[in-house]
Formats: sequence, C-alpha cells, structure tokens
Amino acid sequence: STPAAIAAGLATGARRGLLMKGGAVLEGFRDITAVAFDKTGTLTKGKPVVTDVLAFGRDQRAVLALAAALEQGSSHPLAVAILDRAKADKAPVPPVLAAKAIAGKGVEGSVGGVAAFLGSGQAAAERATLSEAQRFAIDSLNGAGKTVSVLLANGAVAGLIAMRDEPRPDAAAGIAALKGEGIRAVMLTGDNRRTAEAIAASLGIDARAELLPQDKQRIVGELQRQGLKVAKVGDGINDAPALAAADIGIAMGGGTDVALETADAAILHGRVMDVARMVRLSRAVMANIR
Ligand code: ADP
Ligand code: MG
Repeated sequence: STPAAIAAGLATGARRGLLMKGGAVLEGFRDITAVAFDKTGTLTKGKPVVTDVLAFGRDQRAVLALAAALEQGSSHPLAVAILDRAKADKAPVPPVLAAKAIAGKGVEGSVGGVAAFLGSGQAAAERATLSEAQRFAIDSLNGAGKTVSVLLANGAVAGLIAMRDEPRPDAAAGIAALKGEGIRAVMLTGDNRRTAEAIAASLGIDARAELLPQDKQRIVGELQRQGLKVAKVGDGINDAPALAAADIGIAMGGGTDVALETADAAILHGRVMDVARMVRLSRAVMANIR
C-alpha cells in the first residue's frame, strides 16, 4: 500500500504538471544521478523553422515541393517545418508513392517518377556524392546551430534545406539546476555533431551526436554500467527504446502515444526545469518517510 506521504507527493506533482506513474517512480527520482535528454522537442522547442533553401539544378520552389511531397505523411518536427514553408511559399506539393521513414536518417519515396530522399547529411552521403562546395555549405550552416536536410533526386543532390530549432527558454537553467543537485546531464541526438555542439555549448551540457535510436538506447546502458541511475527525457519520436531502457523514462513535449505508453513519468508543461523539480519533490517526500 502507498504511504500517505507518497500519495500526497504524487498529487502535488500532478497539480504542477509532473505526472509520475505510481509511488515507485516517485521514490526512484530520489536516486537519479544522470539525466539524458533528447534534443529535438525536448531541449529545443521542437518547432524548427526553415531558414535557408539552396537549390542545385532546379529552383527553390521545386526543391521545397519535392521535399514537402516526401514529408507529407510524416509528423517529424523537420517535416512540419518543411510543409509549413512549402505552404507559405505556395509551392505545389505533388503526391508521393511508397513513402518510407528511415528512423534517425530521413524519408524516401517516389515523386513523379523521381526516386527521392531527404535526410541528414550523413545519411545522404551514404546514398550520393556531395561536392566540396555542398559539404562546405552544410558545415557552415551546422556551425550556426542549424540542422540541414539534404534532398536527393535520382541519386544526385538537388537541394539543401536548413532549419533552426530554438532551445526552450528554461533549458540552460533546467540543466544548471540538475548539476546543482549533483546530477550529470547529457544530450543525445541524431542530429549532426556541429549543430549539436553549437546548441549544447549554449546550454552548458555535454552532447553525443549523430546517434541512431538504438545508439541512444546503448548509451543509456553504458551510463547504467558506470553505476549511474539514469533518467531519459524525450518526446518519443525515435527514442522510445532509450526511454524504455532508462531507470526512469520521462515523456515531454508533444508526447506521442508511444512515449506516454513507454514512459514512467511525463512533463506536461514543456519545462526542462521540471526534471529537477521532480527530483527535489522526490527527495523532500522520501526524507519525510525514512
Ligand atoms: P533528434 O535526435 O534530434 O530527435 P532524429 O533522430 O529524429 O533527431 O533525426 C536525426 C536526423 O535525421 C535529423 O537531424 C535529420 O537530419 C534527419 N531526419 C530524420 N527524420 C527526418 C525527416 N522526416 N525529414 C528530414 N530529415 C530527417
Ligand atoms: Mg527526436
């Protein structure tokens, strides 16, 4: 049976938008020594905005139209950014055949007879040869904290689409609060290393970049084998395995159905600071019990 103090702690959390699935989760927060954060939608707002469109061999609207065609069935934040921009620019979005998401890499499909791919520079480089100038452009955009998706058409680079996703306003303070509680914080992301490091530096957190979903899960396991009790915070898009592997999985942001099912706890108001608040709540409640 749940002691009254724990029930009261769970209720206090719930009133503040900190949902914990039961007394064992509340108790578990006391012992957390590391927090791994997903980047997109967790440390950042998850609402990237298209900042640059570079076109090769066709015009910008054609690049946006082809990219939007691939993304039309996707709920990935980068997909939403591209669809919004295509709409704003009144780029016509043609239908796509056999569209397929490749987790942590991008999307592919057939658009008007063209075999198209849109995804990370790394994934594009596995499928096509990028020119020196294209690689330089990607590096410069990444250095400015922008994520670049590369559009391939029949195996050739057709365009680069750069997007910026601003950090959540309390991200730096929320990370500092965890460090103040003696907790290690690390950012795990599928995004490019330069982009990740630009954002991580501004937030005061260590970053592990260019990760696939299974890599995020593996790193959670590595931290646990170092003797750390690990909480993983994510929106569940591509990181459900890592959420499930963590000692405590925390869903944040849009909170996809997957994430809420896999998670032990949820942050309803999108505040990074709420992770430290759950730890403090747990420590206060448990100190009163033992
Ligand atoms: P994060 O770890 O930041 O949540 P993801 O694992 O979702 O990032 O994606 C990793 C990278 O793969 C993205 O930065 C992007 O370059 C590429 N990518 C993944 N899905 C898409 C998509 N639907 N459209 C464009 N690019 C994508
Ligand atoms: Mg993600």
